[in-house]
Amino acid sequence: MSKYWTPLASSLEPYVPGEQPKDKTYIKLNTNENPYPPSPKALEAMKEAANADLRLYPDPTCEELVQAAANYYGLSPKQTFAGNGSDELLAFAFAAFFDPARPVLFPDITYSFYKVYAKLCGITPKLIPLDEQFQVPIDQFAGDHGGMILPNPNAPTAILIPLDQVRKLLEANPDRVVIIDEAYIDFGGESAVKLVPEYPNLLVIQTLSKSRSLAGLRVGLAFGSEELIDGLNRIKNSFNSYTMDRLALRGAVAALQDEAYFQETTAKVVATRDGIIASLKELGFIVTDSKANFLLISHPSYSAADLFKQLREQGILVRYFNSPRIDNYLRVTVGTDEEMAQFLKVLKRLIGA
Ligand code: PMP
Repeated sequence: MSKYWTPLASSLEPYVPGEQPKDKTYIKLNTNENPYPPSPKALEAMKEAANADLRLYPDPTCEELVQAAANYYGLSPKQTFAGNGSDELLAFAFAAFFDPARPVLFPDITYSFYKVYAKLCGITPKLIPLDEQFQVPIDQFAGDHGGMILPNPNAPTAILIPLDQVRKLLEANPDRVVIIDEAYIDFGGESAVKLVPEYPNLLVIQTLSKSRSLAGLRVGLAFGSEELIDGLNRIKNSFNSYTMDRLALRGAVAALQDEAYFQETTAKVVATRDGIIASLKELGFIVTDSKANFLLISHPSYSAADLFKQLREQGILVRYFNSPRIDNYLRVTVGTDEEMAQFLKVLKRLIGA
């Protein structure tokens, strides 16, 4: 607390990001990064951009990237928006679309940043509990509310909401914005972007941090009706119209255009994931049906908090949340085959298997 802080700053409960440790080299399975490097074409494009125009401001409209992203999905640039990581887009979207006079619906459990933005925007969340199997109860996302946000697949459960259920949400809530946060959609889900032309209340948010291996570059994309994209631009241009830098703009365009590399690395992550799920089940772990690049796992006979600490001591970082309902679960990012083999080896030792 400080006497210099506004009541708003004093009231915030800031997010605690996953560790980026500097003390030693870990097998890092704690923040859902991609284990493979970004597209070589993206790296080349950024080198060229670094040698070219950094003296000049970037294009505030992000025209080239918006066009590339629109082309990727067959939408118009007016239905497309780009920003500094999907976290920034989420912050813009909360400010633009969620009515603070009404509760905004989130699944409980979900991405913990949503609560933080809600506070920043003066929004009261209404938490809709997941069912016993961690499925989102779609029918309960209705009634009098100020909008809703659902990650798909959900985080940290990794469970996918099928597209027909997303359609149901949109049909049931035509007067409010429905945000679908597709940070992990490329690892086995079907994107709701194809529904954008049909539903003016749909905003889909994606990131290049996960399936495109560019978490360090901070690039997020949003897709929605022209009305919604205009709303995002109103917030952006009242905050900082130069949100994206020249390197990010060039790197992101090149990454989106390297479809072969994207397909190859995503397929590798999915194959590794499906293999590790089978091995963990053989060891007696409960593993949710992951369609993401991470797993949510629990063992009925072992404490997740203890396993987290012991894995860390052995040089393997995973995520432990210590929050209700998942307090005996670990979230484990899918790494390379070699990293996952080492993870399994250490885990087996820890549980005496
Ligand atoms: N949404 C979800 C569900 C996430 O897990 C994350 C990553 N932690 C983000 C959004 C933010 O991703 P980024 O800002 O790197 O695009």
